[in-house]
Amino acid sequence: MMQGKIALEEHFFLPSFAAYGADPSPLDGATKAHNYVPAYFADVQKRLGDRSLRLRDMDRCGIECMVLSLTQPGIQSIPDRAIAVETAKRMNDDLAERFLSAHPNRFAGFAAVALQDVSAAGDELQRAISKLGFKGVMINGYTNIGDMNTAQYLDEPPVWDFWARVEALDVPVYLHPRSPLPNQRRVYEGYPVLADAPWGFGAETAVHTLRLMLSGLFDRFPRLRVILGHQGEGLPFLLPRVESRLRHASPEVRGRQLKPVTSYLRENFYLTTAGAFRTQALIDTLLEVGSDQVLFSVDYPYETVQEQSDWFESLPISVDDRLKIGRTNARRLLRLSS
Ligand code: ZN
Repeated sequence: MMQGKIALEEHFFLPSFAAYGADPSPLDGATKAHNYVPAYFADVQKRLGDRSLRLRDMDRCGIECMVLSLTQPGIQSIPDRAIAVETAKRMNDDLAERFLSAHPNRFAGFAAVALQDVSAAGDELQRAISKLGFKGVMINGYTNIGDMNTAQYLDEPPVWDFWARVEALDVPVYLHPRSPLPNQRRVYEGYPVLADAPWGFGAETAVHTLRLMLSGLFDRFPRLRVILGHQGEGLPFLLPRVESRLRHASPEVRGRQLKPVTSYLRENFYLTTAGAFRTQALIDTLLEVGSDQVLFSVDYPYETVQEQSDWFESLPISVDDRLKIGRTNARRLLRLSS
């Protein structure tokens, strides 16, 4: 088994989230007690805050370092601006104290930020990188502003000031899924679990990514690097058709992007294996973006380290590509020195 692996979409949760004024019910809803069998749900809940179970799995499966992030929807689902700003700051401190300082060689951090206040989000990212040693930021899709049915997506004008700071800090943004807005789920009626991780996560995140590409964001800030999980949320397979159809779209509706959309996937994106262990899909992903932009991840504790690692070992790829995907791409992208 390959040793020294680095995994990037690995989640934690601490009860202190509620102590800072945030309503934890969207988080409880996110892990969907009613959607999953009790044994699975209880195990996930236990592992989100536990350090020793996590380290035991990492040791057993050759994972040297997990980059930890607050589980979705996290700060993005706090409609109150002041509470969101405060909770992001305190959860970053708690992550640093509870995990990173205890095991600095085994855990790294992606910051949580409150885009309910774009300026505060930039300040907090800067603090998390420079003071806490975090390696980037994870954003769980759209941000609720004021209520649960009002959203701000990351391509929208207020957020461009934040992207400018991200580019200046030169750190990656992990765009993590969340479920669609509560009032936009008609297509899932009768099958509510589909709105979440089984399908809605990927659909929501893929469209969100298209918004980023079509907005011209990557033309304005060409050094941005965005990480997507789940082998790119279907985009390696689907994006060529988007590009093909956009050729025939009138200029008023096709967005302000300057390049064909697949070029952004190759130039600005990194794709992880989190929660997606399908060899056929990985081969397609490698054919679209190459082995320098694919990274091993688990999506712990929603997936098991053992299952994801066993699959990774079985892949029909070269020794060189396994080393890149399992370790060296992450070290380069996150500037890990230890
Ligand atoms: Zn995840």
